[in-house]
Amino acid sequence: MNIFDMTIHQLHGALKERKLSSVEATTAMLDRIAAVEPQIGSFITVTAEGALAAASAADRRIAAGECDLLTGIPLAIKDIFLTEGIRTTCGSRILDSFIPPYSATSWEKLRDRGAVLLGKLNQDEFAMGSSNESSAFGITRNPWDTTRIPGGSSGGSAAAVAARQAVATLGTDTGGSIRQPASHCGCVGLKPTYGRVSRYGVIAYASSLDQVGPLTRDVADCAAMMGAVAGYDAKDSTSVDTPVPDYGATLNEGVRGMKIGLPKEYFIAGLDADVQKAMSEAIETYRRLGAEFVDVSLPHTEYAVATYYLIAAAEASSNLARYDGVRFGHRAAADGLLDMYTKSRSEGFGSEVKRRIMLGTYALSSGYYDAYYVKAQKVRTLIMNDFISAFADVDLMLTPVAPTPAFRIGEKADDPLLMYLSDIFTIPVNLAGTCALSIPAGFSADGLPIGMQLIGKPFGESTILRAGYAFEQATEWHRRKAEITAIT
Ligand code: GLN
Repeated sequence: MNIFDMTIHQLHGALKERKLSSVEATTAMLDRIAAVEPQIGSFITVTAEGALAAASAADRRIAAGECDLLTGIPLAIKDIFLTEGIRTTCGSRILDSFIPPYSATSWEKLRDRGAVLLGKLNQDEFAMGSSNESSAFGITRNPWDTTRIPGGSSGGSAAAVAARQAVATLGTDTGGSIRQPASHCGCVGLKPTYGRVSRYGVIAYASSLDQVGPLTRDVADCAAMMGAVAGYDAKDSTSVDTPVPDYGATLNEGVRGMKIGLPKEYFIAGLDADVQKAMSEAIETYRRLGAEFVDVSLPHTEYAVATYYLIAAAEASSNLARYDGVRFGHRAAADGLLDMYTKSRSEGFGSEVKRRIMLGTYALSSGYYDAYYVKAQKVRTLIMNDFISAFADVDLMLTPVAPTPAFRIGEKADDPLLMYLSDIFTIPVNLAGTCALSIPAGFSADGLPIGMQLIGKPFGESTILRAGYAFEQATEWHRRKAEITAIT
């Protein structure tokens, strides 16, 4: 077996039995990155030297008998996570040369357990996008078909897992940015409940929606990564102080007797036929495993995209006000202060980010605030209530992740509205603040991965991981590997 094909659990076994060292594993991953990066473009920064130093340190820990599950495991993280002393761009030219003075809590937790950082992954600029096309550092290609997008905004995080350039990765999800790329690249991705993972040191896009989560090759790895990053952090006032369960311990409990809701608004006529087929087969698999299906309704689903793009843009316009060329980031040569602000921001931000800042500023301006922002907040409450009512009857819900498999590079780039609409099935979960898992559930006729979404109750990560694991044990989808073809 290739080292780069191993899961966290497989690699951990080899490290523990001393069949392999972390330096060997890390070297294998760095070689793999070098080999496929020209076709894929998952990374903004590869930290080869630091990775090898961390791997040697991990080998010393292992030799001293300290072999935690994550010790010596080569990982990579989205470039939205601050990493002390390592360039962090958030996919934007405005942060092109930004070196953070401290690190994100979620990365520190992995690092403290001995994980090795291979580098920082490509993403849509400031996590705004669904295709990775808005990155200032070039596009990332889908490892299953290099003419297609990997999804976004954590496109690099998903592509790196699918292309075997990292054993597992971290991403962030504000409106689907972990789940949608996981679905398009055939990996497992978890968007945890709001407050479950610290956002400290994660560059803010829309603070009331942003969450950190793992992307992995299988559900057991996802449970392990989730357990490692979850938990209260005094440095994030929205992180919740509730005990972190052992997500791995309950994976084997199966789905017999579980009630799974099928929200009727998610199984609409326009759904892609291959996606529909994969969902029907997944439902059959779960029935065979002893789960029971219940029809449920989330009646305000049709308003979710509009609500999200008002709230997310409003919060983004406020969060991105700090990039003014004064304290950090790109500063343009200019005549006077105002000119400097204007030029720095005009040169530093890409067009999608500018569009969001304008939308958000408009929605928050006096005279429009009540009509747009306050109205959107009220609709958000209605959407949350939809989830509360539906969850009174079921343990979890099953839906598609995206209405279609990965689209072609450039297909939606000139039509922002069409791009926004592709987030329809992932956005409501962020508005409701709950958790959801994306796992491989089939392939389209032309060989593209299709993901299924399991939506859990708030802090119900154990339940969806357990249901995901049961499905994975009963199917082979997650075992298929992308064969990376040259760009044509
Ligand atoms: N595609 C959505 C957006 O552009 C979601 C992005 C995300 O989750 N970060 O806002």
